[in-house]
Amino acid sequence: MSTILADAWLITMNSRREILDEASVAVDGGRIAAIGTRAQLAGRYPQAEVIDCRGRIVMPGMVNTHTHLFQTLLKGLGDDMVLKKWFTCMTGPSAVHLTPEDAHAAALHGCVESIRSGVTTVVDFMYAHPRPGMIPAVVSAFQATGMRGFVCRGFISMGREYGVPEALIEAPEAALADARTHIRSYNSPGARVQVGLAPNMIWAVDEKGYRLTRKLADEEHALITAHVAETDFEIETAASLYGQTDTEFLSEIGFLGPDVLAVHCVQCQSHDIRILRHHDVKVSHNPCSNLYLASGIPPIPAMQLAGITVGLASDGPASSNNHNLFQAMKFAALMHKGFHRDATIMTAEKVLEMATIDGARAVGLENEIGSIEPGKKADLIVLDFNNPFMTPIHHPVSAIVYSALGHEVTSVMIDGEFVMRDGVVTHVNEVDVRRQAQLAADALTARAGTDRFKRREWRSTAI
Ligand SMILES: [Zn+2]
Repeated sequence: MSTILADAWLITMNSRREILDEASVAVDGGRIAAIGTRAQLAGRYPQAEVIDCRGRIVMPGMVNTHTHLFQTLLKGLGDDMVLKKWFTCMTGPSAVHLTPEDAHAAALHGCVESIRSGVTTVVDFMYAHPRPGMIPAVVSAFQATGMRGFVCRGFISMGREYGVPEALIEAPEAALADARTHIRSYNSPGARVQVGLAPNMIWAVDEKGYRLTRKLADEEHALITAHVAETDFEIETAASLYGQTDTEFLSEIGFLGPDVLAVHCVQCQSHDIRILRHHDVKVSHNPCSNLYLASGIPPIPAMQLAGITVGLASDGPASSNNHNLFQAMKFAALMHKGFHRDATIMTAEKVLEMATIDGARAVGLENEIGSIEPGKKADLIVLDFNNPFMTPIHHPVSAIVYSALGHEVTSVMIDGEFVMRDGVVTHVNEVDVRRQAQLAADALTARAGTDRFKRREWRSTAI
């Protein structure tokens, strides 16, 4: 089946970063077949369905390089808390009571939310395994909604003394054996959903866990993602455990490499940045979460100057409360301008690169997605800019990064197939997905006792 998106304002994100007026894109066999005028493409693909995109922006689907989809059920419960309480009183206990059915309902909802806001690739970091079956539960949600991405089999192998619940602690051998089974069952060449590996963080994973992860990744060619240098606490524990930063330690044991997507890197100093660059480690930037949890401001401009690939992300909705990359783009631009008191340090164009082509590179898919070029997979989004938020419009990139809210996305295509068309999510019943997610959220938080945070008292000042 072929489709022509005709007469759009086309943001290609190709190597010349061309923005084309009244341009048309032909999609055939799941891939971008050609870019040209409506007449040229209609002549070449006479059977194609022509979809009029005048008054619309067409751009590559965005890549969310880090989330925890199960936390979709925890939106808003951890507001305005210090990090230790957020983890030990809210997310930790909630994760203990998670079932595969909950994880599936959460992931379905998270994928629908992502599609609605223009995300076509998601990297899920699934670290909560209080019972078996979590990875198939999340993968099946990707498959049901048509989402592309990575479901990374996370694990926690220590951390009792830091408040990690016993039910979340696994032996690395067992966690990685489970990961290997799923990698072998899902990671066929070109699979839209792949399983990756996700050792959680320096104070929750022992040295053996990191070493075995590296070995398995080498054997199975799986993506690795890990939280790195998110908070002061990680730096402090790494210093007391190993006498160095977590970045230095992971480098020393041979864990780092171009297949590692390091998440956050807020506390990285210049030596850590040189190490990340040396190993061609990719970085996932989560501006809303870093601000929400008061983790700090990561040195993203310095990393980019050093040549490190940085993708953008929402983080789990327990620390960002949505999966909206439009918000993440605006926060990414503004946080660095404000912190450095330099309005030129992060441009709208760079932020859009982070959300698209740099995100694709961060997960090793830059030859398949992230830009609109013939031969690439047709992961495309359509935005209607005729609304009060994006008009008057002068420059589409500015309007996308600074003015749009996300609901301007009207249609989303993954692998050349619409997963949302004219505002209607096509692969699942969105109303059912929402209802199931609310039911699962209510039941989970009641079981975990974390529903008490729903009934918080009004607190004009912190308590
Ligand atoms: Zn995270």
